[in-house]
Amino acid sequence: INIPHKKIKKICCIGAGYVGGPTCSVIAMKNPNVQVTIVDLNAQRIESWNSDELPIYEPGLDEVVKESRGRNLFFSTGVDQAIIEADLIFVSVNTPTKYTGIGAGYAADLGYVEAATRQIAWLATSDKIVVEKSTVPCRTAQSMRVILEANAKPGVRFDILSNPEFLAEGTAISDLIKPDRVLIGSLDTEEGRAAAASLADIYASWVPRGQIITMNVWSSELSKLAANAFLAQRISSINALSAICEATGADIDEVSYACGLDSRIGPKFLKASVGFGGSCFQKDILNLVYLSESLHLPEVAQYWRQVVDMNEYQKRRFTNRIISSLFNTLTGKKIAIFGFAFKKDTGDTRESPAITLVKYFRAEKALVSIYDPKVEESQIWMDLCEPGIVDDLPALQKQVSIAASAYQAAEKADAVVICTEWEEFKDTRLDYEQIYDGMKKPAFIFDGRLVLNEKRLKKIGFKVETIGRPGES
Ligand code: NAD
Repeated sequence: INIPHKKIKKICCIGAGYVGGPTCSVIAMKNPNVQVTIVDLNAQRIESWNSDELPIYEPGLDEVVKESRGRNLFFSTGVDQAIIEADLIFVSVNTPTKYTGIGAGYAADLGYVEAATRQIAWLATSDKIVVEKSTVPCRTAQSMRVILEANAKPGVRFDILSNPEFLAEGTAISDLIKPDRVLIGSLDTEEGRAAAASLADIYASWVPRGQIITMNVWSSELSKLAANAFLAQRISSINALSAICEATGADIDEVSYACGLDSRIGPKFLKASVGFGGSCFQKDILNLVYLSESLHLPEVAQYWRQVVDMNEYQKRRFTNRIISSLFNTLTGKKIAIFGFAFKKDTGDTRESPAITLVKYFRAEKALVSIYDPKVEESQIWMDLCEPGIVDDLPALQKQVSIAASAYQAAEKADAVVICTEWEEFKDTRLDYEQIYDGMKKPAFIFDGRLVLNEKRLKKIGFKVETIGRPGES
């Protein structure tokens, strides 16, 4: 940091999604003298960022945006202009998984990163610091450098940094305001270190210097994939143990409590569930698997692939338990799904276990009623329609309905399945006696998130089946 470096005055963020929007809004709030412009090709998304109805739900986000919007924070579709003006550009575009059947497997689709990189290269008339914010495979900075240098105007130089984002949806704002660490990777050159120092200054407006870590760019890229792989691995590990609990009489909550007290293990991310979801865990592990395969490390690839396979298994296993409890047939039975988001406090449904469960239930000819407090109805239909099947919606709507409340979803249902751990589904919040009265008998509850007090519900009359605990049947 004690090296001469440029002071950043204008920032552009390409990609106004779950990461670019909140991250750069916090940067703008904490750096009132820096102009921050967040751009996106999606005009509807930008319009929404400029309105009172932000395009994503995150606790605390409204206040953060309101504080700076129009002062030093701008949302725009003017991608080119923002690139030209900026000293520092975050590339925060989507990096979905692609599968073409060619090559080693499920690779990260870097098409959006490459398009944004080319656009920067073509437009830049002054030096730029280009920051990988998207989660990318290790050595992507090298591809970006080649593209930037091959297309640069004479005299324009680019420095590339990796600055992966560790926020979790649902707690994005508190994660950004109090991060465990900020990671900045740079090339090990004088210019690289100077660029890292410029970005470090931006974060140092609110993050203690000791928590801003600089390292080589490849380590930084890999650290993001590794961190998500570790987190997902813990969930798959506890879920694998939940299957043993159900078969033996052990209780997964007790097992995770006992293990978590070991300071080498720690208590976080040891909660059993129907499976992890979200746009990142599966994608980033598949990214790591692909990377390992392309580096001719099949055993390493196989090791990490197991984490994803276990997650798929958990969803199938839970569904099979539901089917067998409901006397081995779901035909014509009504299943109420409580929660469609991949976790609480977000409206995001990407890779949500609920999507997979509903598909399994449909295949078993069940009728499904879904309630989620935050997910938009249109999103649910989009998630459930099979891609490419044009008239899927009418068939879907014969089998699936969306309810306005948990009570409505459970009306005349044979079973309630808890898929998301929303606070409002707890038995201290919902009136489960009312729910029980409205259901067919025997009334089943399948708790896929360990949010319910089994004893209390059994007293009402429910048959309760919980992940990681032996069942009644
Ligand atoms: P997102 O899909 O919500 O947002 C990406 C946005 O980029 C989209 O709105 C898209 O229209 C826009 N975009 C794509 N190409 C563009 C271009 N050339 N010009 C302008 N805009 C363009 O994705 P996200 O969830 O914000 O994730 C972004 C990246 O951050 C991914 O690599 C992801 O893996 C990573 N990440 C996500 C999370 C998370 O919790 N969602 C956390 C950490 C890291």
